[in-house]
Amino acid sequence: MHVIYGGTFDPIHHGHLRLALEISDRLEVVPINLVPCHIPPHRGDTGASAEQRLRLLELALAGEAQLRVDERELKRAGASYTADTLRQLREELGPEHPLTMVVGTDSFASFDRWREWQSIPELAHIVVVRRPGAELDPDGLPAAMLAERRVSDPQALHGQPCGLMLDLQLPLLEISATGIRERIEAGRSPRYLVPDSVWQEIRRQGLYRACPDGNF
Ligand code: ATP
Repeated sequence: MHVIYGGTFDPIHHGHLRLALEISDRLEVVPINLVPCHIPPHRGDTGASAEQRLRLLELALAGEAQLRVDERELKRAGASYTADTLRQLREELGPEHPLTMVVGTDSFASFDRWREWQSIPELAHIVVVRRPGAELDPDGLPAAMLAERRVSDPQALHGQPCGLMLDLQLPLLEISATGIRERIEAGRSPRYLVPDSVWQEIRRQGLYRACPDGNF
């Protein structure tokens, strides 16, 4: 089975990394492919560039055989749409190979506003990871879709190419990239929230700083 886990990863942090490893263990799949997206235009410009985010990801994953970076969305011109990425992967993998995407409830809550969202279950399975503070609206379309396609056994995903949804409750670390950027901008250290190699590179490049020349 091919598994992708997309995000802005601005920057990658231990919450992302732990989640990816838990998914690898639960689904019994190696590797999990982390897919950094183009930063959507509505986000502020305090974040890192595509190259910088990719560099941080590579540092974070160095020596970790269970996780891998897939750069396809950074290489594609324009906005990153999950449906395009899944369609491209489906062409590469063929019609029978199980394909799965992982998404947190914070993103999945607005699933019915994603481009071509209705075609996504025809391309892949979806693993929905419950994130504290990001509950799904019980009357909304994403919750209805989840109820209709839900399976409880991760093994079920291996048995067909797409169309199922796994509702996963995992022990998650309470870390967000927004919190890390805010901390750095305020001149406070994010150490232990991100790998040391990532923090070193953030400092070396002066990323996320209101005033890049200031001291820590
Ligand atoms: P931001 O704060 O900038 O929105 P983020 O930390 O939520 O960033 P993203 O890159 O937007 O990170 O998230 C990518 C995916 O990772 C999303 O599906 C999100 O639900 C999930 N995710 C983010 N943080 C965590 C965490 N601490 N534990 C588990 N999953 C997470």
